[in-house]
This record gives sequence, structure tokens and C-alpha cells, in this order.
Amino acid sequence: MAVKRDYYEVLGVQRNASQDEIKKAFRRLARQYHPDVNKAPDAEAKFKEINEAYEVLSDPEKRSMYDRFGHAGPTAAPGFDPFASADPFSTIFETFFGGTMRGTQRGPQRGADLRYTLSISFEEAIFGVEKTIEFRRMETCQKCRGSGAEPGTEPVRCPKCGGLGEIRQRAPIFNMVTVTTCDMCRGEGTVIAIPCRECRGEGRVRQTRKITVRVPPGVDSSSQIRISGEGDAGPRGGPYGNLYVVIDVQPHPYFIREGNDIILELPLNVAQAALGVEIDVPTIDGTERLHIPPGVQNGAVFRIRGKGVPFLRSSGRGDQIVVVRVVVPTNLTDHQRRLFEELARSLENEPIGNQRDEGFFGRIKNALGL
Ligand SMILES: [Zn+2]
Ligand SMILES: [Zn+2]
Repeated sequence: MAVKRDYYEVLGVQRNASQDEIKKAFRRLARQYHPDVNKAPDAEAKFKEINEAYEVLSDPEKRSMYDRFGHAGPTAAPGFDPFASADPFSTIFETFFGGTMRGTQRGPQRGADLRYTLSISFEEAIFGVEKTIEFRRMETCQKCRGSGAEPGTEPVRCPKCGGLGEIRQRAPIFNMVTVTTCDMCRGEGTVIAIPCRECRGEGRVRQTRKITVRVPPGVDSSSQIRISGEGDAGPRGGPYGNLYVVIDVQPHPYFIREGNDIILELPLNVAQAALGVEIDVPTIDGTERLHIPPGVQNGAVFRIRGKGVPFLRSSGRGDQIVVVRVVVPTNLTDHQRRLFEELARSLENEPIGNQRDEGFFGRIKNALGL
């Protein structure tokens, strides 16, 4: 942060300037440095500086505060040194003068929930896995134990509300008094005199966290695992939020998951399809012998029970669905061509297409009971 210029200096007025003089000075400078008019690179910063100075000096209450305490806040109070932290101006000064309203609720705030996307393999999703993950989160500052106060120092009475924790304002009309929670001390009545040097008074610091996540069998992409208390720590000793681990399952080279079933496409050549075959097919648990009867059609479906995905919330597993794909050979050798020609003559008078074909996806749908 650059050194802040004196507000009177910024507006070019005397310390005892009247409200009228301050207003005039502000208007003149604002016209001169307004970014719409002034294209100089530092015009905007200048303009902001002018506005900030005017906001304080035009308000008698803020002005008298500024006159007494300057930029640094109430240094008159013994031991009160809000500038011990690196950039306190944006936090302490603004709230001091009501510039910004930060959380006005009482008591420590809970930390934010975090989200972590965990990529796992197809097999890991089916059988479950334990993964160690590493991520950054806010943790309660060890040095001040989350209090935000430098160890050995005590919080002091809030200078804005005088320790009441609330601000009373009398509205000019109706003679009404509004009571709001003090935004400087957030209703606590005390503020930190010397912020902890480790966490700059926030009570928490960013740390790398390493934990082991147990992924249960049967999860799928976008499944969420909630790990309570592994989110960010709340400011000033507030409780931790939760961590949500979102599962991202990588695709398998030949298995396709459909709910709790696993689909496998099984290519057969025309001879295997016509004559039938005993064939070893891969399952997620290893190979399984499958009996394919003679005359199997393209798209025929076989079900291997219990070789699917475990149910997440109950015992049991889905099935593996094997879908036959008959592959017609290309690039025949001379010998194969002669055999096919012979076959063609033999099949010449055979009727074809006497079987109703539901199509590839129709059969999968039927098999899945969709
Ligand atoms: Zn600390
Ligand atoms: Zn207060």
C-alpha cells in the first residue's frame, strides 16, 4: 500500500477549512480529474483519492475522527495499533468509518464449504478405493488459536460503539431510534488491539491439507462424498465448513456403464455367429466363459448375472450385458472367397430376414428393461 496522503492536502484546503470551502475544493478537483474528462493514466487513482478525502472531510463526525486519529485510527487508545497488520486500511479504516459493511451477524462465522473433483478409474468406481488427496484450505491459526490477537495481548473496547456492540442512530424524522449491530466489532464490543502477525488478525491461515478419502464401491461420475469439517476454517476461530469430493469416473476402453449394469460389445465373425461358439469374454472380475448358440444374430444380447456394478446403498450387484456384433470379413483371401462363393450358392434358395429385428439399441433397451 502506498503511503496515504493527508486528506486536507489531497483537497488542498486548510485544516480549519469550512464545509463550504471543502465542497468547493472537491468540486473543482473532481471536475479536473474525472476519468471521463481526464485521460491521464493516474487520473482515476487521483479521482478516487479525492472522493475518499471528500467522503471523510464532508462528514463532521468522520472529520472529527480523522482529525483526532488520522489515517491510523485511534492511536490515542493505549496499545491500539491496527496498523500492525499489512493492509489494515481496507479492513479497519473502512469499517471504522462505516465505509463497508462486513458480516454483521454475531458470533463466529462458519468457514466455507470446499469442492474437490477426484478423478478415478472405471474399476475404482466399481470396487471402491482409498485415495489420498491434497488441497489448500484455511486453517485455524495455531499462533493465536483463531482469536486473531497477537499472543499476550488482549482485545480492547471497540472505539466505534464504546463496547456496547450496537450503534444507535436517531432518525431526523419521527424521532425514531434505529439500533444496528456494530460493524466494527461485529457486536462483540471488543476489537483486536494488536493483530496476530501470523494471520494478520484473521484467525486463520491458508495451509496445504492431505487427507485420505474412502470412495465406496458403486459410485458414478458426479457422485458426491461429504467429509464434514474438512472445508475452510471460519474467521476468528469459527467452525470448519465441509469438503465435498465430487467423483469423476474415467471411461473404460471397452466397458460402458449403464446404471448398475456394464455393457460389453462382443464382436463375432460370421462363422462364429452361424455355428455358435464357446468364448471367453472379459468381465470386470476377469474372464467368463459364455456359450453362444448357433445362428446368433447381430445385436443379440446375453446377460451375465452379478458381474455388474455393486449397489451403492444395498447389497448385490448389477449384471454384465453382452451385445453381439457380427463382423462381416473384408479383404478375403482367395481361399475364403471360394468358400463364400460356395456358401452363397448353397444359401441361394434360403429365405432371409424372417426374424424381426429390433435393431442394436432396441435390444440393449430390452435387455436393460427400459
Ligand atoms: Zn493468528
Ligand atoms: Zn463495536
